[in-house]
Parts: sequence; C-alpha cells; structure tokens
Amino acid sequence: MDAPTAAEPGLTFRESPQNPAARIRDIADLCVKCGLCLPHCPTYRLVGIEGESPRGRISLIQGLVGEALTASDRVVEHLENCTGCLTCQSVCPAKVPYGELIDLGRAQLRVRGRRRSTSTRILGVLSRSRVVTGILLGLLRIARRLRVDRLALLFGIGPNHWLGRVLAHLHIPARNSAFRPTEIASAQPGDRQVMLFTGCVSRSLDPATLTDTTRVLERIGFRVNVPRAQVCCGALDLHDGDPVTARNNAARNSVAFGTLDQPIITVASGCAATLAEYAQLAPVGGESLSGRLTSVEAFIEEYLSAEEQELGTLDGRAVIFEPCTARNPRLRPSASRKLLERVPGLDVVELGTGLGCCGASGHHFITRAGQADALAAPIVQEIAESTPDYVVVSNVGCALHIGSLLSSWADPPEVLHPISLIARSLARRD
Ligand code: SF4
Ligand code: SF4
Repeated sequence: MDAPTAAEPGLTFRESPQNPAARIRDIADLCVKCGLCLPHCPTYRLVGIEGESPRGRISLIQGLVGEALTASDRVVEHLENCTGCLTCQSVCPAKVPYGELIDLGRAQLRVRGRRRSTSTRILGVLSRSRVVTGILLGLLRIARRLRVDRLALLFGIGPNHWLGRVLAHLHIPARNSAFRPTEIASAQPGDRQVMLFTGCVSRSLDPATLTDTTRVLERIGFRVNVPRAQVCCGALDLHDGDPVTARNNAARNSVAFGTLDQPIITVASGCAATLAEYAQLAPVGGESLSGRLTSVEAFIEEYLSAEEQELGTLDGRAVIFEPCTARNPRLRPSASRKLLERVPGLDVVELGTGLGCCGASGHHFITRAGQADALAAPIVQEIAESTPDYVVVSNVGCALHIGSLLSSWADPPEVLHPISLIARSLARRD
C-alpha cells in the first residue's frame, strides 16, 4: 500500500504514480461537499443514493486512503458504477479534478487487492489483440447463426449477463468489411497528408467508419497515413485502475505518430478524450500528439468551410446524439451538427442528453447492462419521438450501445458516424 507521503510538487498523478495517496488527499480536499454536482450526475439521478453521486464517491475514496474504509463490495460497486461522463467536473465551483480522482480511486481498489471483474479483463484482452479479436468475432458470427444465446439461457446466461449481451446484441460487422489501412513511409514535398488514429474497438467493431473516413479524406485530396505501430489509446486501462498500462500505450502511440506536424484524425470521441491527456501521460512526444489531434468531423467541417465546397443532397432526418466525451471543448463539440447542416436536404436535429450520459461508458454497456440501459432509456425515448432515418453518434461505444437498444424495433433507424453520411453525400455529388 502507498505510504502517505507528500505529493511531488507540481506533478499530477497522470504524470507520476509515485505518491497517489498524497495526490488523492490533495485533490479530494478541494471538494467542499456543497452538493451542486448531484443533480447533474446521471448515476445519482437514476437511484438518488449518495454513494452513486460525485460527492459520495469522493468521500469513499477519501475513506479508502485514510484507512477508515476497506475496499468492500459496496465501495467497489459505487466506484465502478461511475460512467466517467465528467458532467460533475464541468459544473463544480471548486474545480475538483474528478476525472483524475476517480481513476486514482479505482487504482486504489487494485492496490487493495480488488481485481477487475472477469468480464472486464476478457474485454480488455480483446481490445488489445487484433488477431484474438478477429478469431473471436468469427466464433461469434457462428454462435449467432446457431442461436447459442438460446442455449446459454439454459445455463443461466440471460440477456443481462455480459456474455448473453455479447451473444445476442453486440453489433458484429460483416466478415468482408474489414478496414484496410495504408502506412505511408515518407511524405513527398507538397503532399497533403494526415495521420489516422484507428482505435481498437472502432477497428474491430466499426470498420465502416474508418473506411468512410479514409474515403472522404482521400476524396478531398489528403493522403491518409495509418501508422502500423499504433496501439489502443489506453482509455479502458486508465479508467479501470491500471495507469501503468495506459502510460505504456501513451508512450508507444507517441512514438508511432512521431513529431511531424501532420494532423492526427480521430473517429471516436472516447479515444480522443484520452489522447488529449497524452501531454501528461507520455512526457516524451505526448504533447506533440495531443496538440495535433482533431476529430474527423471538425477537420472536414473546417475544410469544407474554408474551401466553400458543396455537398450532395441526402433526404431524411438525422438526429445527433452527442457523447459525453465529445462535449470536451478541446474537441469542438458542435462539429457534427455544423458538418451535417451543410448537407442539402438533410433535416438535422440534436437530441438532448437524457440523464446526462447514455451509459455506454467503455464496456459498461456490456458489463453493467441494467444501469446502462436505464441511463439510455430517455435518449431512446427521444429518438422514438423524433422518428429519424439516421441516428448519428461520433463515439463507437455509444453507437454500439444505442444501436443494440434500437435493434429490437420493427424498423429501426440506421445508427452511424457523421462521416458516413458525408461519404454518402459526396458520392451523390459526383
Ligand atoms: S465535487 Fe464540486 S460540486 Fe461536487 S460536492 Fe464537491 S465541491 Fe461541490
Ligand atoms: S463522472 Fe458522471 S457518473 Fe461519475 S460521478 Fe461524475 S457525473 Fe456522476
């Protein structure tokens, strides 16, 4: 267990793991327990329990490092239930860095011997190995065809068990839809080149977005470089109490993307939010990577606006759900709406945020199905009332979660990334 020594002056935990207990004390003490964050917290709004609020979780973390509390099942549950939406952080008058605090708190659970759940560990392995993921997606396609989910019911694996959830609901892309990237060894003088961060989940479960992104960027004259050495952004590890692996990933990605001044394009706001923290996570090269980040929707919107380019007509209504991670001001939150409003014929409507978060939160939509579905319910209701043709989501986890909830509808709207609509619109123009 960590000795309660003073934190290194000027360093955050993201930068140095040396004295996490001291860092927790420093930043948790900023909380004056005013409770102004409570009505904004999705998990508190859901159940109205103090332990499910930001203030409650901060007290639990303080109790853990002060040895007043043990890492009991109840403490673990409250800390793990947090979706990491960071709405609390954005409304806190005392500027408590809650995001850092909850990551530190979960790391304290691991220090105290509370391991990640089996489901979380399995999903973590899947997100790291493309070969293993490829094999498992193949097995899953076969299991779907054989309706193994019905068989699983006999063994008590119902639709809310994480495995039942994967078997019955997880969107599995068609076998021939794999994303085929190109690594460009060197830029030629005059080349307009961008680099693409693919993200592990997008690459396995949403290759269409990556293919459409490449298609659109090439269509407007950019070469798309996809460094082969890139790895997972580290978000799952960072938020699951494993900052060491997250820092390793940050260091590897910082090397993979180098120090050229080419923009780094992201397609998932969840990855982008973690990549934006690389200045702290990877002291060498991390700042360069964070500084070059741009979401594909912001990049294309800026380009179209500067070049005064027109898009092709698309009929229908597109409702936009804005993920919590896309609300980060660094990532230009309104870019999806601005971009889609450029498409002639498209009726663009922005959805509310329901209870503040759709509940997808990394792998919560699989491992904490009950909470995730309850958080998504008001959003799904609003989608139903809006009668859209398209539901537009710029984060793969949220898209998978909302898509799986809509999949039981008789005639569900298509759930897709904004760039996929732009790809179709450009194709119409040609
Ligand atoms: S986190 Fe901020 S808003 Fe919430 S109780 Fe503490 S000081 Fe108040
Ligand atoms: S991050 Fe979101 S879910 Fe977690 S305590 Fe803050 S507001 Fe609540």
